[in-house]
Amino acid sequence: MKVVINGAGIAGTALAYWLGRLGHDVTLVERAPALRTGGFVVNLWGIGYDAVEYMGLLPTLLDMQHTADELRMVDRAGRTRGGYPSSVLLKLARGRMATLARSDIAATIYASLDGRVETRFDDSVAAVEDDGTRVQVHFEHAAPQEADLVIGADGLHSRVRHHVFGPDARFEYPMGCHVASFEVAGYRPRNGNAYVAYTAPGRYVARFPMRDDRMLFFVLLRDEHLAGGAPNDHAGRKATLIRALDGIGWESDAIASAIAQADDIYFDSISQIRMDTWFRGNVALIGDAAACPSLIAGEGAGFALAEAYVLAGELHRHGDDTGAALAAYQARLHAAVARKQKLAESLAASFVPRTALGVCLRDYTTLLMRLPVFPKLLMGRYFHDEATLPAYGL
Ligand SMILES: Cc1cc2nc3c(=O)[nH]c(=O)nc-3n(C[C@H](O)[C@H](O)[C@H](O)COP(=O)(O)OP(=O)(O)OC[C@H]3O[C@@H](n4cnc5c(N)ncnc54)[C@H](O)[C@@H]3O)c2cc1C
Repeated sequence: MKVVINGAGIAGTALAYWLGRLGHDVTLVERAPALRTGGFVVNLWGIGYDAVEYMGLLPTLLDMQHTADELRMVDRAGRTRGGYPSSVLLKLARGRMATLARSDIAATIYASLDGRVETRFDDSVAAVEDDGTRVQVHFEHAAPQEADLVIGADGLHSRVRHHVFGPDARFEYPMGCHVASFEVAGYRPRNGNAYVAYTAPGRYVARFPMRDDRMLFFVLLRDEHLAGGAPNDHAGRKATLIRALDGIGWESDAIASAIAQADDIYFDSISQIRMDTWFRGNVALIGDAAACPSLIAGEGAGFALAEAYVLAGELHRHGDDTGAALAAYQARLHAAVARKQKLAESLAASFVPRTALGVCLRDYTTLLMRLPVFPKLLMGRYFHDEATLPAYGL
């Protein structure tokens, strides 16, 4: 088959990997001029971990881990108020969890494509015309091309979804917060290998020590702290973050300097994408484009990897019957993803509490994670996937 995949993030590279390996003719199209670097770290467990194991990339990825020994919640004076060793989470994942830079996952998969896939950077699928048998694909820059299948793997704000399925507002469920992340070199203090987080009402800031003396910051802001709306350029992001974190306590001055130094700031709404159907004719969606669960669910990268594997597996199983393959792909995963989305929705309020009392209660509750039984009670549902990956023998 001729397949065009729009988006070379985790979902797009993973699908390109499988389809290339199965001998399909794949074009991977990425809007950015090169694979995106930097960005946040993600935890992989469950079916996402299984998927990288099927790809044979697990040993390489395990060598690239960024592991914090401890998750520490501090108060405005920097005193420890909650938290637990990260081994607790590893145990919940039965030892099968890896903490990786998002960009390292995509880059590792991309490197393994080994020239089997044509990649076109600095371009995007602009429009598709599906006559039910073949799809005419129009690009922003390249000449139009015919394909048997077009895949939108272009993330939360997917252009393919917008073009084929309808406007974002029909599928996007904003969760009332925005997230920012950025990295700087040489930030102090470093607190060894601890992930340290501080929450003021409506605002959460955490720092995560990376290799080469770099520090990664996560900021979560409830939307009421975005005076003037979400910024859409680098200077605006800096100004918004500095304003929102001004005077909140803990390391706010040092963090303001770090924001001022940051070369690149990721900033987006925390949203879910909920769709009843992930395909229409010969166009399908995977990853955040189809079913972003949001960072609150913490499994978007894992689902993207699992979706790529299952989509490739079902295409392989159903041969020429693409419609049956797409239906089987959705049937295998849709309910499990939807359930995780519901779980994330129920946890959204405790992620960034609105009041000082709410913050205190949340921080002290994390201490329970140090006791037996409580980790499973409090977070067991996070680590349980309702879907399993079939052995397609790809
Ligand atoms: C702060 C944070 C923490 C997270 N933590 C976790 C976690 O612990 N565990 C976990 O599993 N998940 C986590 N996630 C979620 C996870 O990162 C995403 O679900 C995952 O990266 C989705 O991959 P994707 O390939 O579908 O989309 P993306 O990673 O968004 O990739 C989409 C790609 O498409 C490209 N693109 C966009 N538009 C176009 C276009 N028009 N044309 C061509 N290309 C385009 C983009 O440049 C990008 O390369 C977290 C997310 C955030 C923000």
